This record gives sequence, C-alpha cells and structure tokens, in this order.
Amino acid sequence: MASLIDGKQISQQVIDEVALGVTAFRQHYARTPGLAVVLVGEDPASQVYVRNKVKRAGEVGMNSIEHKLPADCSQETLNQLIAELNANPAVDGILVQLPLPDHLNEAEVIAAISPQKDVDGFHPMNVGALACGEPALVPCTPLGCMIMLRQVCDDLSGKHAVVIGRSNIVGKPMAALLLQANCSVTVVHSRTRNIEAICSQADIVVAAIGRPEQVKSSWIKPGAIVIDVGINAIERDGRRRLVGDVDFANAEPLASAITPVPGGVGPMTIACLMQNTLTAARAIEAQREARLKAG
Ligand code: NAP
Repeated sequence: MASLIDGKQISQQVIDEVALGVTAFRQHYARTPGLAVVLVGEDPASQVYVRNKVKRAGEVGMNSIEHKLPADCSQETLNQLIAELNANPAVDGILVQLPLPDHLNEAEVIAAISPQKDVDGFHPMNVGALACGEPALVPCTPLGCMIMLRQVCDDLSGKHAVVIGRSNIVGKPMAALLLQANCSVTVVHSRTRNIEAICSQADIVVAAIGRPEQVKSSWIKPGAIVIDVGINAIERDGRRRLVGDVDFANAEPLASAITPVPGGVGPMTIACLMQNTLTAARAIEAQREARLKAG
C-alpha cells in the first residue's frame, strides 16, 4: 500500500512558512509584499482560481490587488495595465490568469511582464534561467510537485523520472527541475511510442496529461512514487467527481507513495504562488539595497 502524499497538509506547511517570511519581510523593509492578479473576462473557473489566490494572499499577510478587465479588452489596454504594474513599487508579483480570450496574444502578455515580478515563472527569461540551472522564478505547479517529492524521498539523485506531458506550464519545467535534482529524466507525450513500457521502468512518474485515469497500474513499477497533476471532471455513478490522470484505485497498491486527486498537487500550486511572490519581493529589495550600496 502506498503512503498518501497529502497536498493539503504540505501546502499548509508552505503557507505557514510564507506567512512567517512575510512578517519578517514587513519588519525588515517596512512594507508589505504585494501580488497583482489580472483577470480578463468572466470565465467561471478562472474567477474561482483568482478568488482563491486573492484569499490565500490575505491569509499569508500579503496585499493583493485584483484587476478585472472586460472580455473584449484590447491587447493595448492589457499591455498598458501590465506596464503600470511593472512600474508600481507596491507590486512584487504579477499574475495574469490564463487562458485569455482568443483575440489576445498570450505570449505577448507573458513577455510584457517584468521577469522579476513573473510569479508564474512563464516569462522566457525565467524559462531560460531554469533551463540553465540559474536562479529563476519557477512555475508553481512543478515547484509544488518537487516539494511533495522531497517529502517522501530525501535523495532524488540517480532516480529515473518519467514526466508524462510536455506543456510549458507543467511538463517541461517539471523535467528541468528533476534534472536539476540529478534525476535521469524521460519526457513522454502524445506522440511517444510504448509509453507503458517506458513508464513501467520509472522510479518516479509525474502525470500531467489532462486525460482521466489514463495511467494504468500496468504503467507503474512496484515501489514507484507517483505524482498526479491531472484534474479532470467526470460523471461517475450519476455524480460529478474530480479524478486525476492516474487510475488511483489500481495504482495505489503498487506505488510506494502517491498523490490523491483532489487534495494532492492542487493545493500546492497556490501555496507555491505565495512562496514565489515572497521570493520576488525579497529579490526586488535585495536589488534595491545593492543599488543603494553601489551609490
Ligand atoms: P496540456 O497543455 O493540455 O498538455 C498535456 C500534455 O499531455 C501534452 O504534452 C500532450 O502531448 C500530453 N498528452 C495528451 N494526451 C496524451 C496521451 N494519451 N499520452 C501521453 N501524453 C499525452 O495540459 P497541462 O496544462 O500540462 O495540464 C495537464 C493536466 O494537469 C490537466 O489535467 C490540468 O488540468 C492539470 N493541471 C493541474 C494543475 C494543478 O494545480 N494541480 C495545474 C496545471 C495543470 P502533446 O504535447 O503531444 O500534445
């Protein structure tokens, strides 16, 4: 039987640490870290995500500033808002809730955010720094997965990790983080042949596919650690339920440790957003101090 990697509990530890860090930051710098969250349009899921992020920021003692723009807002209006937030000294982190309406260019918006305030870690400068193994703001979901992995495995070095999925927000940064932790990393995706054979050799499986219960027990090596990033809404027995990308019921008896859905990776993502905002605020202040010292 696998041990459950409890995302609610681990994310609370992260939140508690960030709250302590925010208190120390306020005492030291006489200001409060600030997170700006930008929501374009009225997508119900995005509204829930934004509400939760703003709520969490309040819980850790940060300021949060919510900016709502209409669904038909222009690229120029959005770019202008980002430029203002980049220049605002009360803002340490900027998050533009994705996806954006179709007429807006997501890549242009991400590139417009100051890399220093890019708490989602999606800016090409942060993506490049992560790939080079340099300090970077790292995307929140893979960051949360790494924290969970470290809870159940002290030394990831030499482990064979298979990441299923190659998206920019989960799969690719996850692979980069596992490489940094000295894992041997294989990334598989929709065009990979023999996924089952590859996965069944893995010491660590990270599933980020977006397909309900796609990863079967035959894909899991006995004793493997399984991190399930997927969140899929399905109908079962006449009820709507959330399931992951892993067939949890059949994988759990084989794995040594596994994340549940819900209550696994999900809560870690927002906790890591808070951690990234504090990291960004500290880096901004460190740079300000260095500038002052240099005269
Ligand atoms: P995405 O952008 O749709 O990427 C999915 C990836 O899975 C792609 O690389 C795709 O391959 C691959 N894939 C699709 N079908 C496959 C198959 N049958 N076999 C192997 N690979 C397959 O999704 P994402 O944004 O990375 O998200 C993945 C899942 O994680 C979703 O369920 C999402 O809701 C969830 N998620 C959760 C959190 C959280 O906080 N817990 C955060 C982000 C995402 P190709 O590249 O070849 O198309």
